[in-house]
Amino acid sequence: MRAARLHEYGEPFRIEEVPDPEPGPGEVLVRIGGAGVCHSDLHIAHGEVPGVLDGPTILGHENAGWVEALGPGASGFESGEAVIVYGGWGCGMCRVCMSGEEQLCDTMRWGGLGPPGGYAERYVVPSPRHLIRIGDLDPADVAPLTDAGLTPYRAVKKVAGRLVGGDSALVIGAGGLGQMAIQFLGLLTPARIVVADVSAAKRQAALDLGADAVVDPGAPDAAQALGDATDGKGAAAVIDLVGSDASLAFAAASLGFKGHLVVVGLAGGTVPFGFFTWPPESVLTGSNWGTRTELEEVVALALQDKLTLQVERAPLEAINDVLARLEAGQVAGRAVLVP
Ligand SMILES: [Zn+2]
Ligand SMILES: [Zn+2]
Repeated sequence: MRAARLHEYGEPFRIEEVPDPEPGPGEVLVRIGGAGVCHSDLHIAHGEVPGVLDGPTILGHENAGWVEALGPGASGFESGEAVIVYGGWGCGMCRVCMSGEEQLCDTMRWGGLGPPGGYAERYVVPSPRHLIRIGDLDPADVAPLTDAGLTPYRAVKKVAGRLVGGDSALVIGAGGLGQMAIQFLGLLTPARIVVADVSAAKRQAALDLGADAVVDPGAPDAAQALGDATDGKGAAAVIDLVGSDASLAFAAASLGFKGHLVVVGLAGGTVPFGFFTWPPESVLTGSNWGTRTELEEVVALALQDKLTLQVERAPLEAINDVLARLEAGQVAGRAVLVP
């Protein structure tokens, strides 16, 4: 089969013929219908995420397609069924896994972040439990839901039960994940939705998706604008999808009393947390991808046609060009590679 493999950090991906993968006992072979191109793959290709490459490696962790073959002992799906793949592969046996939070398992492996992923014609999934049926949806349209949908969904669920009418929720970063976070806040909470992004185009995209107000965090009057947008109370919840020093400082300054700041972005920033540097009784937490159950919930919303996901399709061979455009901020929604 054809696959895009990364041989060394800092090099372009190479399109190569590799042996067809075979599903072992309990495993499932999935034919890729679409593989979302995530910003983390840029960090990996640049060598900023240690331990992913082990020889030539097939990345791609946002995958959907069709069941092609079941390994010995695997059951529950028919060949040809359209599925989306949950990417966090835990042991399946520990307390964490049994609760569905496989992405937090001690032994967790991400397909496409070590084990071969979806930048190929086919890949092997370790168990049918990682597959969710998508009915008539096109795999290439929904593949990004496995990360760009699931990750902000979990972050929104962490605060959704606390938000009441009159509260404001601030989303920092209106790229692929932010555009989904806006929709989940609208579907799950009564909060006024405020979005911060330095890009005017992304602020407009946020308004188009239902944001009530937008703020340019780089503008000199950003603090005043945020105050106006939140009725002078600050945000009851902040979801930081960037995670840089600058975005976290803006997040902390935007948080109201007893607010919740959820850090999702991987930019590696830090923020001082202390009695005198933090709004009274406010909570700081992280959010790590999502659970199998949460992915099922996200897929259910897609099946009800309640989500707008801007997808730009490209052939597998275009992977290096797609990554370059992603790095330059030229991909409006999510790019999906179709082999
Ligand atoms: Zn990702
Ligand atoms: Zn486990």
